Amino acid sequence: MNNIRVRFAPSPTGYLHIGGLRTALYNYLFAQKNGGKFVLRIEDTDQTRFVEGAIENLIHSLEWAGVKYDEGVFFEDGKVVEKGDFGPYVQSKRLHIYKEYVDKLLEDGHAYYCFCSRERLESIREEQKMKGLVPKYDGFCRNVSLEDAKARVEAGEEHVVRLKLPYNRDIHFHDIVRGDIVINTNDIDDQVLLKSDGYPTYHMAVVVDDHLMGITHIVRGEEWLPSTPKHIYLYEAFGWEKPVYVHLPTVLNKERKKLSKRHGDVSVDDFRNKGYLPEGLVNYLALVGWSPEDNQELLSMEEMINKFSFERVSKTGGIFDKDKLDWVNGHYIRSSSTEKIKDMAIPYLIDRGFVDEKFSDENIDWMLMLVETVKESLSTVSEIGDKVEFIFQEEIRIDEETYNEFLSDENAQILMKAIINELSNVNELDMEYAKTFMKAIQKETGIKGKNLFMPVRVALTGSAHGPELVNVLFLLGKEKIIKRANNILK
Ligand code: GLU
Repeated sequence: MNNIRVRFAPSPTGYLHIGGLRTALYNYLFAQKNGGKFVLRIEDTDQTRFVEGAIENLIHSLEWAGVKYDEGVFFEDGKVVEKGDFGPYVQSKRLHIYKEYVDKLLEDGHAYYCFCSRERLESIREEQKMKGLVPKYDGFCRNVSLEDAKARVEAGEEHVVRLKLPYNRDIHFHDIVRGDIVINTNDIDDQVLLKSDGYPTYHMAVVVDDHLMGITHIVRGEEWLPSTPKHIYLYEAFGWEKPVYVHLPTVLNKERKKLSKRHGDVSVDDFRNKGYLPEGLVNYLALVGWSPEDNQELLSMEEMINKFSFERVSKTGGIFDKDKLDWVNGHYIRSSSTEKIKDMAIPYLIDRGFVDEKFSDENIDWMLMLVETVKESLSTVSEIGDKVEFIFQEEIRIDEETYNEFLSDENAQILMKAIINELSNVNELDMEYAKTFMKAIQKETGIKGKNLFMPVRVALTGSAHGPELVNVLFLLGKEKIIKRANNILK
């Protein structure tokens, strides 16, 4: 039996960044492919950064994206619950566990109490900076004996616990993406492991939890690569088996900068709100930093699982290309049922004031036809408002050039008259009738081909290009068509 276990360990500091979703996705794909287990753990040891509702948001975003996990925190019956044999899965509920392991490190000489004041730390930092050195703790408390230190702690002196790294030792580790890495301890700080508020730092908690939760592969963003030697040292200090490391290239924008909120959409919610389909976003994100051997670009989750391997994750940053995302998403919109896209589209149409709930409930066929008519041209569902605006407008605008090209001659006048005439004989313009309408106009006027279709299209839609005219006729209906034709009549 295989015992591959991976985890996604976000901090609940707000929303799920799409870079985070990609990390979660790669964990998921790897676990699925190898029959392993995937854990969602919440790393909330920095209480100052905790955001109310962030855990719920993380869970919902993963669920929306179809990235499923086996253990950890879930949202059920309106609350966050935990499932699995390795809990608690929220770090703030595990403080007693970290304390136990910090004590062990202290006893074994791998950690020490540090009583340095904030002011002292500030001033050595300043001094080092002035000398052009990388700021680093100067080791002032390293040699306070454990006995003395304990007495000071007992007496209530404020303290932290720091990692006691040996001087000048090379720490080696292997990363599947980055290869062999060596860092000398002289270049690493004596990391704080336990803060003065009794909470562990990320570095302490992550190692203890990954070990106790049986995590075999650490798959995370490359921003954690510089921290890894500290983690390796801790595994060694505890005598624990080390996990396999996989550091993923950062998701960058086209300018090769980290994707940040200041530069546009970064959260899963942003993309969801724009009307991206989870299949589209997830498919595209998978390709930001990874590609299957055959370079296939449109892949279902199933295909991604089958083809996924860390060996094909790139070393350099993955560029997030919104145009490519839109192309992928457009593919998924086109292959979704119109019914589904209609349901997604309604809130956007309500938002624009084009329809209300009552109307869309009562006119399902009309709504389906509306969506069907423009579905091919959408790359996100939120674009539907702009695509169908011409149907709802009281007055359409026709730019001068287009007008001159198609509507300024006698031909257009004849067509408009024929349209009004033809429609005055019918009660309702249903789809059946819409299909025969242009034939009737042709018969009546003797005008055909481009000379027939283009002026009618421009008069009714404002544009020389657009969706299927039969659909447009049906969607506009008798009154609007008459009105628009009348507007052209001189
Ligand atoms: N809590 C860290 C984060 O927010 C997790 C890093 C890791 O996966 O080790 O990204």
